[in-house]
Amino acid sequence: MLGTARLRYWAGLVLKVLAVWFAKVLLQKQPIMSTFVDDEIDVIDGVESEDEVDFVEEMRLPEEKKVDDRLSVGSRTYGCKHYRRRCRIRAPCCKEIFDCRHCHNEAKNTNEVDDSKRHDIPRHRVEKVICSLCDHEQDVKQVCENCGVCMGEYFCTKCKFFDDETEKEQYHCDACGICRIGGRDNFFHCDRCGSCYSNALQNGHPCVENAMHQNCPVCVEYLFDSVMDISVLPCGHTMHQICLEEMNMHSQFCCPICSKSTQNMSRVWERLDQEVYLTPMPEEYRQKKVQL
Ligand SMILES: [Zn+2]
Ligand SMILES: [Zn+2]
Ligand SMILES: [Zn+2]
Ligand SMILES: [Zn+2]
Ligand SMILES: [Zn+2]
Ligand SMILES: [Zn+2]
Ligand SMILES: [Zn+2]
Ligand SMILES: [Zn+2]
Repeated sequence: MLGTARLRYWAGLVLKVLAVWFAKVLLQKQPIMSTFVDDEIDVIDGVESEDEVDFVEEMRLPEEKKVDDRLSVGSRTYGCKHYRRRCRIRAPCCKEIFDCRHCHNEAKNTNEVDDSKRHDIPRHRVEKVICSLCDHEQDVKQVCENCGVCMGEYFCTKCKFFDDETEKEQYHCDACGICRIGGRDNFFHCDRCGSCYSNALQNGHPCVENAMHQNCPVCVEYLFDSVMDISVLPCGHTMHQICLEEMNMHSQFCCPICSKSTQNMSRVWERLDQEVYLTPMPEEYRQKKVQL
């Protein structure tokens, strides 16, 4: 009898130890399992907390990290006064190297350049770019084939256009055939005016055939691909914002193309009427009549 009791005691003890051990193992495993599952769910949802990003970072191969780090080297530290980018272009026209097409056009259209040699770059024909980090010349592409750096965070294959400042919200408009800034969702393309206009004008601008495919009436720069802000006048004609302001400063309030008012003039006419009313005709002229 004593033997059976001892056996029971030992069996009970072994069971208890086993139970504690199981509980410990299960409790340890539980959290690891759940974060892993959570991670998977979150990735599908497209939501990643910082901890999870770290977790994903750790999972990545060192090689992948190196490639990504390489892509971003020198971002925003290269370029000209027009664009931040990490390549220069070989002009297909004169075969010279420039930071960008504006740099080319400025250099090739100054008074020092002979009249017959002045020209603009045919921007869509650019074929070669030179990486600013390793100076390797290559066919137009986004990532340097020699050093692996990204030569422009925004890159348009159609325009051969590079820009690291993506906050400008560049987009390519197929109807315009060029890249524009300001975000695709904020603009619509008007087929009659032949250009992208701000959504604010969608239901209220008088269309003028090819309004944007002409020169600014003040400074005669071609408006369509101008990098300056453009104003659409109430008559539908277009000109640079700063040229319009310049005109207003000189008290010119009518469109230089069609002579319609460039703004609501009723306040101005009201003021003029008031001034006439407050300036009585001098006594000696009051009875005089003049034939016009
Ligand atoms: Zn050229
Ligand atoms: Zn430039
Ligand atoms: Zn390179
Ligand atoms: Zn483009
Ligand atoms: Zn457009
Ligand atoms: Zn229009
Ligand atoms: Zn102008
Ligand atoms: Zn007009």
